[in-house]
Amino acid sequence: MILIKADRLSKSYRTGEVESIALKNISFSVQSGAFAAIVGPSGSGKSTLLNLIGCLDHPDQGSLLVCDTNVTSLSRTEAADFRGKNIGFIFQDFNLIPVLTVFENVEYPLLMVRNWPAAKRRERVLQMLEAVGMREQADKKPDQISGGQKQRVAVARALVGEPRLVLADEPTANLDHDTAYRILTLMKQMRDNFGTTFLFSTHDPKIMQEAEQTFMLEDGHLTTTGGAQ
Ligand code: ADP
Ligand code: ADP
Repeated sequence: MILIKADRLSKSYRTGEVESIALKNISFSVQSGAFAAIVGPSGSGKSTLLNLIGCLDHPDQGSLLVCDTNVTSLSRTEAADFRGKNIGFIFQDFNLIPVLTVFENVEYPLLMVRNWPAAKRRERVLQMLEAVGMREQADKKPDQISGGQKQRVAVARALVGEPRLVLADEPTANLDHDTAYRILTLMKQMRDNFGTTFLFSTHDPKIMQEAEQTFMLEDGHLTTTGGAQ
């Protein structure tokens, strides 16, 4: 089953008189349950592509189907609702809320989109913290845990609402190699356990080898696609 289908997507940014083309005529598809990477140097369009798929921005041209929904035509509120129900994000800088504990950070998405009673939320949050090896740290604040541990909390938070798709923007960029591999292994375990589709961006060729399917971006062009289509 195809989870993402992009057809001739284009996106450019205008700053004053200057127009920079971020994506040019991109077409590709991602199967449900894939562990896929978008690879390319800085400025090649990786973040732009993830933002379009995550409905944080609209393409200028082309069509984009995500989880059976044509996301190019969603309004701002429809997009927020769609994201909450279908998509988890792992941001490069973790984006944990500093005043909340590890537990509360992971619980946060459930408060936004699910109308669950507290006991059910608690059970689900603890299950996710257990899965990423962070249950013991549930009551700590983000500034009391290491970078690798923050990243694991970010993985738990992205997955807590059982999204069909997780988008991760350079999820290993700020991590040492061992920690980077541990995060990738963790994401793959989550894919195997929950059937979640993962699409992550990276500029690290070693990290890229861990993906089962790769999309290469260069200057907004999709140059190669590898793996099962
Ligand atoms: P990557 O994630 O691969 O580093 P980006 O998608 O961030 O690439 O950027 C692609 C191109 O679009 C670059 O030339 C970048 O300068 C430009 N760009 C990205 N975001 C903006 C923005 N908000 N305003 C203007 N230009 C942008
Ligand atoms: P740091 O971020 O300081 O490098 P780590 O994240 O590497 O710390 O690991 C801290 C502890 O958690 C280690 O004992 C490690 O074995 C354990 N650990 C790491 N990943 C997992 C996981 N997915 N599940 C359970 N325990 C884990």
